[in-house]
Amino acid sequence: MTGIPFSHVTRKDIELGADNEKIFQRGLDYFKSHAVSRITLEDSTLHGRVRGSYDTYSVEITDTNGKLSYACSCPYEGSGCKHIVATLLTFLDQKEEILAKAHKNQTATQTLSEKLQLLDTTELIELLLLSLKNHRDWKQILLKTVIKKLEKKGDRSNITDIYEQQFRQLIDRVSEILTEHNEYGGGSESEQDEAFELLDDIVELFKQQKLTQQLKLELIDKLFFFYDWNNSGMEDMLLDTIYDVCEISTDWKYVIKKLSKTKDEYKSELIQKIKKEKLKENNSV
Ligand SMILES: [Zn+2]
Repeated sequence: MTGIPFSHVTRKDIELGADNEKIFQRGLDYFKSHAVSRITLEDSTLHGRVRGSYDTYSVEITDTNGKLSYACSCPYEGSGCKHIVATLLTFLDQKEEILAKAHKNQTATQTLSEKLQLLDTTELIELLLLSLKNHRDWKQILLKTVIKKLEKKGDRSNITDIYEQQFRQLIDRVSEILTEHNEYGGGSESEQDEAFELLDDIVELFKQQKLTQQLKLELIDKLFFFYDWNNSGMEDMLLDTIYDVCEISTDWKYVIKKLSKTKDEYKSELIQKIKKEKLKENNSV
């Protein structure tokens, strides 16, 4: 009954999977007009690209032990849209070919896996490091994975330098975004969100005491550099981050020192507020 994913699917299943009869008919029309431009089977997920009247949609259908679950990027809110129907009908039509191709790919992956097992650890590490070179996101993922493994082993002293690497990785990307946004007086919202998330990750690292005091001061220096540049539109976010990493009075005094560098009324107010609220000094001026 289960066996090779999707091999059990029948036209009747597709009809039943459609949200209603009308949707099935529309999906059938799409299939007949060859609207499904690409279809691939990977493990137990069928991926399809379907041209609609306004846009092209991505369909993903997963076979879990014979039970199909659907996802489509179109706005239709019912369970099985016409794009899913069209993808499944296209699959039925090209079944032999698609399954053969999936099998071939699987065999290729298996062969590669067998060959990789012939390499020794040093060679594998070399390969891994080579793959990191131009893939920043991949490096973040790798660092996170390595840290998780090391944390599980419980030896914290072994991880300190990896935490620092993670910190540098995050701050480098933040700096890149902030430089660009300062140069152009702003930038894309998605990059702003990205910077916000990265800064959040950095604050979290400090809150969990994973980074040294020296790195904290380095971070404050860097953020003040961009804060004082004052052209990114992200100044509030920078100041919030600076405040978020401050814990002890030394931190706050350092922030006061940075704020005192240039005379301006707003900064003087900030300094007074820090003195009053964070350092519990009652005397003004
Ligand atoms: Zn759809």
